[in-house]
Amino acid sequence: MSKTKENKSYSLMDKLNSLCKRRGIIFQSSEIYDGINGCWDFGPLGVELRKNIKDLWWKRIVRQREDVVGLDCSIIMNSMVWKASGHVDSFTDPLVDCKKCNHRFREDLLEEKVCPDCGGELTEPRNFNLMFQTYMGAVESDANKIYLRPETAQGIYINFKNVLNSSRLRIPFGIAQIGKAFRNEINPRNFIFRSREFEQMELQYFIHPNDADKYFDYWVEDADSWFKSIGLKKENLRVRAHEDNELAHYARKCVDFEYNFPFGWQELAGIHDRTDFDLKRHIETSGKDLYYFDDITKEKFIPNVIETSEGIDRTLLTILVDAYEEEEENTKTSKQGDMRVVLKFHKTIAPVKAGIFPLSKKPALIEVCKKLEADLSKEFAVKYDQTGSIGRRYRRQDEIGTPYCITVDFETIDPESEGFESATIRIRDTMKQERINLAQIKLWIRDELDS
Ligand code: ATP
Repeated sequence: MSKTKENKSYSLMDKLNSLCKRRGIIFQSSEIYDGINGCWDFGPLGVELRKNIKDLWWKRIVRQREDVVGLDCSIIMNSMVWKASGHVDSFTDPLVDCKKCNHRFREDLLEEKVCPDCGGELTEPRNFNLMFQTYMGAVESDANKIYLRPETAQGIYINFKNVLNSSRLRIPFGIAQIGKAFRNEINPRNFIFRSREFEQMELQYFIHPNDADKYFDYWVEDADSWFKSIGLKKENLRVRAHEDNELAHYARKCVDFEYNFPFGWQELAGIHDRTDFDLKRHIETSGKDLYYFDDITKEKFIPNVIETSEGIDRTLLTILVDAYEEEEENTKTSKQGDMRVVLKFHKTIAPVKAGIFPLSKKPALIEVCKKLEADLSKEFAVKYDQTGSIGRRYRRQDEIGTPYCITVDFETIDPESEGFESATIRIRDTMKQERINLAQIKLWIRDELDS
């Protein structure tokens, strides 16, 4: 990475880090005790953003499809699950230490074979298992050892038969899950990009083995249109196929969706052809019948699986990077050189859909705003704000990406005025204003969000 790109990138990541803290999106976990590496807390707006990402994904992948159902498995499972899946033996990263400064790195992520921090010599790589382990019950023995799941996928495989037997699904069909995953990452870094506790949205799509390539391509295309639907800029996204030597122990084929982060092109999500690897291993280890019987063709087989796997935290970071802009204000009241920071979130992602402001603290204006707030909040996340000048209030909402700001002014309450019983709506990206009848505002926002 060139020095200029590096400086620019650090400054954007620093700006985002500070904006997220200032506006209640992301906080360092355990901050009052100097934090804990690789863990993050999500503030009032962060929670809304994550919920919006998850809801949109769930709607698209589960609710709007007849061939996919949802599942919510426990995080802690019988440790045989992880023996069977290969994670106990193979879910490792190569770890190296710097002999001079003792800093620790993942060898496969290093560009050169020397310490990136001080140039010192590195130790030989050792394999380090990423699963967090603990003990269940009072006795700390090998028999009681359990793991925090490092992916949500295995919970789906071990419930494959439960879901199949309790639903009327036929292959091809999918099971989706959203939930926490834990990895004892060697080097958590780049804000929420690589954490030790994170959340995944995963789909396991069960297919006939002959259809693997067809459905692999199908889900790659679907992921592409998903990322566009949440507003990510096309030029910042690319698809990269894994080389054979990069493939995870369970995968026949894999492509990563990569995003052009300030710290370089990095994986945002992965699509994997996991063959029949996982179901086969669970059949062998548990002795249970996890075959699929096609009652039309009378064929009995182990389904293959195409997996789509995406981190919510990583998606959130991507959205923040993609949406962040600093631009010159260009309004009737702005002076030359006035700048605004704006998060140009896609309107469906924005944590607050509309700001509601009385032009002054006059009780009659506040009353109208409060009524509007009570009505709109039944359907959308809205924010009432009466503090400071209107310009400052706009800027506060720009910084958190609110697409619409409604201002109730003196005309709203003046029966003699043309603007009686209407308010102005200011649009975040164009900064243009429209006058809309109070009774129509809810419908107007609904239409805008649907369009
Ligand atoms: P990497 O090579 O970056 O460690 P991976 O290839 O091991 O990632 P997968 O196992 O394919 O990742 O995980 C699927 C998705 O889960 C990733 O694309 C990413 O969005 C998310 N993810 C994985 N590890 C982390 C992490 N430590 N922090 C946040 N998100 C993660």
